[in-house]
Amino acid sequence: MALRIGRHGKGWQVRPSDILRVGPGFDLGGFDTSATPGFDGGKAAGEAAIATLGARLAELQEKLYAESRAGGSRAVLLVLQGMDTSGKGGISRHVLGMVDPQGVQVRSFGVPTPEERRHHYLWRIRRALPRAGRIGVFDRSHYEDVLVVRVEGLVDGDPWLERYREIERFERQTEEAGITVVKCALMISPDEQLARLAERLERPEKFWKYNPSDLDARERWDDYMHAYQDVFDHTSTPSAPWHVIPADRKWYARLAVTQLLVDTLTDMNPSWPPPGFDVSAERARLGALLAERADADGEPPASRRKGRRKGR
Ligand code: AMP
Ligand code: MG
Repeated sequence: MALRIGRHGKGWQVRPSDILRVGPGFDLGGFDTSATPGFDGGKAAGEAAIATLGARLAELQEKLYAESRAGGSRAVLLVLQGMDTSGKGGISRHVLGMVDPQGVQVRSFGVPTPEERRHHYLWRIRRALPRAGRIGVFDRSHYEDVLVVRVEGLVDGDPWLERYREIERFERQTEEAGITVVKCALMISPDEQLARLAERLERPEKFWKYNPSDLDARERWDDYMHAYQDVFDHTSTPSAPWHVIPADRKWYARLAVTQLLVDTLTDMNPSWPPPGFDVSAERARLGALLAERADADGEPPASRRKGRRKGR
């Protein structure tokens, strides 16, 4: 287990998946978006923990990738949902930024394109699933089709229960294909969103992030929270549960997601694949070549190597 539970020191006091996972009777109404559940420590301790976990996450992903090169089919998919400014993009940059870029596939889902609109809503989602060995990140996802689509009344009728079942089936198939799904909802307070939107309007380098329609969504805050509650009630399954993460404090949301990913990958337990060649025979061949070079140059191989390093 990656998690060191520090009951008497700073750090996680509880495994975050235990404390953040949606359980029976979960009520978004009483949810404190500024809390830091399970973690004993403030911003500085949190950021230090993220840096340590980042190295671990990178190593686990590399192992998963190595495993896939040897024929493994496993991958991880992080599904991020949350209102505008809740920090979904920051998770991609700051958390997945600690992993080899070749090992990460980030995809964001906006208003469907005309082509996407001609297909079932899961069409664009299936095409974006991560390849073996990768960590995929969905910045928004198929859940927009039971959130914004529902709140804005973008389809006729009342297909929500049917869609929840469809989504559950889709996620089950995804898991059967070897992709472990980690679902995180980043929850902020309306006041925190107001402050973040104001910041976007104050700073020219943040204008590009501002969208006048953000204020429209904000006006329907209660409708969104109702739609989120229904999503949590209907689509949190034992194999793909929702984690609802207080996100008023960016450091906490980033730490929680990092730890959830590390714990998920640790449980998957990827291992370095065995060599597809005879290690001692290859070492002997290489040893012979090094000895030949040393004879020719009249100096020991070790000093040659050091010399080359210095030159880089
Ligand atoms: P952003 O994440 O800020 O780039 O904004 C993307 C926008 O696309 C958000 O307003 C989403 O609600 C919207 N969006 C994402 N998926 C859908 C969908 N299936 N139907 C309608 N709007 C969507
Ligand atoms: Mg936006």
